[in-house]
Amino acid sequence: MTPDPANPAPPRRVLVTGGTGFIGAHLVRLLLARGDEITVVDNLSTGRRRNLPERHDRLRFIEADLSDALAALGRGEYFDEIYHLAAAVGVKLVVDDPILAIETNIGRTIDLLRFALTRSAEGGPTRTLVVSSSEVYGKGVRNPFSEDDDVVYGPTTVARWCYGCSKAVDEYLAMAHARKHALPAVIVRLFNTVGPGQVGEYGMVVPRFVRAALEGRPIEVYGDGGQTRCFCDVRDIVSAMPRLVGDPACHGRVFNLGSDRSLSILELAQTIVRTLGSTSSVRTVPYSEAYAPGFEDLRDRRPNLARIRAAIGWEPRRTLEETIRDVAASIREEKAPAGGGPSR
Ligand code: UDP
Repeated sequence: MTPDPANPAPPRRVLVTGGTGFIGAHLVRLLLARGDEITVVDNLSTGRRRNLPERHDRLRFIEADLSDALAALGRGEYFDEIYHLAAAVGVKLVVDDPILAIETNIGRTIDLLRFALTRSAEGGPTRTLVVSSSEVYGKGVRNPFSEDDDVVYGPTTVARWCYGCSKAVDEYLAMAHARKHALPAVIVRLFNTVGPGQVGEYGMVVPRFVRAALEGRPIEVYGDGGQTRCFCDVRDIVSAMPRLVGDPACHGRVFNLGSDRSLSILELAQTIVRTLGSTSSVRTVPYSEAYAPGFEDLRDRRPNLARIRAAIGWEPRRTLEETIRDVAASIREEKAPAGGGPSR
């Protein structure tokens, strides 16, 4: 049907949980640019209010625990799409408080999926994206990681693995809702995601290295620096999300989402020094000092992207150097008095 200019289609109504976090805020910006009407729910546990525009006539921000917010929204609100990013994120946070991590990641997802079952305009299930993590692969059985690979975790006495396990349970739940209740749900397993606005306090390597490089401090590479990762710009990552949600052929499926360009952490440090023209030296720090004795780092992590390429033709676009320069600019801006202000 040709759109009637006198009666344009109403904006899509979208719910984003965890929308003030690093990735959530980039997604919200993209969806606002698309013309959507957005409700963000976030308890600001790790997100920051200032990651979102202060005022926008198509953005509503609800500061609340997700379950409380859903109970309130459940009284009459409908949505066309739901993006579930609210979670206790990062291995470091999880090691510090496994109870909170498990309760948040599993408990809130149960509530969210139940909510999603009846929230479309017709009162039926709503298109929903559940954000999972490459941590679901645990130690991995082969590199690159493919969606249908077996997973291998360490013992339950080591808290680190509860992050991947809690995300795996989320995936089981989403899959079960898709099968049993025809919930149009898509799951994405995010690999290392980087970009402007990411903070280093939860251990993420790129903002930590960039900050050290900007300050001329030594860059601390853990272990021997030979471990490899693939870093994808957050703006590329979020660009895939609405495309997956909008494509019925993607519903009920799991997708790796990230870059497949692998580099060692030592190479990352050198790339950052070179790109920013820094005088920082690079030094190695034993894992036992950086984390805790017995910490087990993943040696290599790379996604197989064949599935997402075949489904929606998505490709990461930005170069690592471009992202590093933008991360540096965002850190400088944060430090400048005019761009400062409270962190939440
Ligand atoms: N890392 C590092 N120095 C830091 C922080 C992290 O060498 O200051 C290493 C970390 O041990 C891991 C890699 O960088 O091998 C990526 O760490 P990050 O926490 O960003 O993500 P992960 O892939 O471990 O989830």
